[in-house]
Amino acid sequence: MTEACALTLNAGSSSIKFGLFDIAGAAPAPLMTGLVENIGGAARMKAEFGAEKRAQELSGAADHPGALGEILSLVRTEFPQARIEAVGHRVVHGGPAHGEPALLTATLMAELAKLEPFAPLHQPHNLAGVRAAMAAFPDAAQIACFDTAFHRNHPWVNDVFALPREFYDKGVRRYGFHGLSYDYVSGELARIAPHLHAGRVIVAHLGNGASMCALQGGRSVGSTMGFSALDGLPMGTRCGQLDPGVLLYLMEQEGMDARAISDLLYKRSGLLGLSGLSNDMRALEASDTPEAAQAIDYFVFRIRRELGALAAVLGGLDALVFCGGIGENARRIRERICEGMGWIGLEIDHAANAANATVISAELSRVRALVIPTDEEIVIARAAQRLSAGTRQAAE
Ligand code: ADP
Repeated sequence: MTEACALTLNAGSSSIKFGLFDIAGAAPAPLMTGLVENIGGAARMKAEFGAEKRAQELSGAADHPGALGEILSLVRTEFPQARIEAVGHRVVHGGPAHGEPALLTATLMAELAKLEPFAPLHQPHNLAGVRAAMAAFPDAAQIACFDTAFHRNHPWVNDVFALPREFYDKGVRRYGFHGLSYDYVSGELARIAPHLHAGRVIVAHLGNGASMCALQGGRSVGSTMGFSALDGLPMGTRCGQLDPGVLLYLMEQEGMDARAISDLLYKRSGLLGLSGLSNDMRALEASDTPEAAQAIDYFVFRIRRELGALAAVLGGLDALVFCGGIGENARRIRERICEGMGWIGLEIDHAANAANATVISAELSRVRALVIPTDEEIVIARAAQRLSAGTRQAAE
């Protein structure tokens, strides 16, 4: 018997994360998750299904279609009964119009291609992944899940830059990203603690990319990321908030052009730039250089500063939620973020925090602090299941 499945794809510049989900039941059930990394170089594939973990070097994955071919052949070999009814894609930019996942048609592809200048390092790779999947699964529904969608109901003041109006109309706005992660975490919070979900919540998604989101009753009302995925917190290799005057200086005094500045801000800044050592928090925590310590100091400082700013946007705070590789695992970072936050009503429980417990605030803390591991893939799989069912019903 064949099994109705959805494939999820999250295509970055040199990697594709993938997942295979059984969508025959009420909710998608994961069958396999994995990653092809270092596409364009010596590509490797890692996959996990059931109790099995597999890692292998790939010879035929020089580009995205090649990597997708490898993923496809793994699916075919390990899950011969799988019938791919839908492919769900993470697409970084949906522009101002898309507040929900959408079925990818030729018209939508053309619309999304026009947004490439807004996310030049991500959008072209996302769309290349879509084209490769359309060729590999011509009969499957292709679904786009936008990182920007979750933030589309921001109040205007949180959406605008103080530039002449024409720029807003051209799309120069604060979009906000990491929406799939926030969507998942918000849903989990609703399940674990509905009373908190109904209130004022800040979610800190702290991974290689990092941002924070203010949620009121589960809806995003503000985010530290804006027009691009550069703004807000310092990240693994990205600068975070920067005075725009710095860009003018780099152009006029350092003679840097757009490509050089892009390379500097996206790939050589953040934790890597400040530490001169690594973009990886584990490496920085293990290092005894003063530069590594300062890079961590700045990371923590900016998070605490943005916490205050977002709490002001919310008019107070009921819960702080950590997610992402750092948020879920780096207990010392969480501790440092929460220390001295008594003024806002937040007291950490050190033992719970050290144990990576779900609730890490002290019993008497008015503001609850939680750790909720994020899962962007399941959010994509749910959308793929929902929209492909809708497409089938419309066709019947
Ligand atoms: P991405 O944005 O690429 O998905 P992740 O969410 O996987 O990134 O987060 C990667 C970051 O999480 C890295 O900086 C890594 O060092 C950090 N990290 C993962 N595990 C730990 C840990 N146990 N302690 C400290 N940092 C950790």
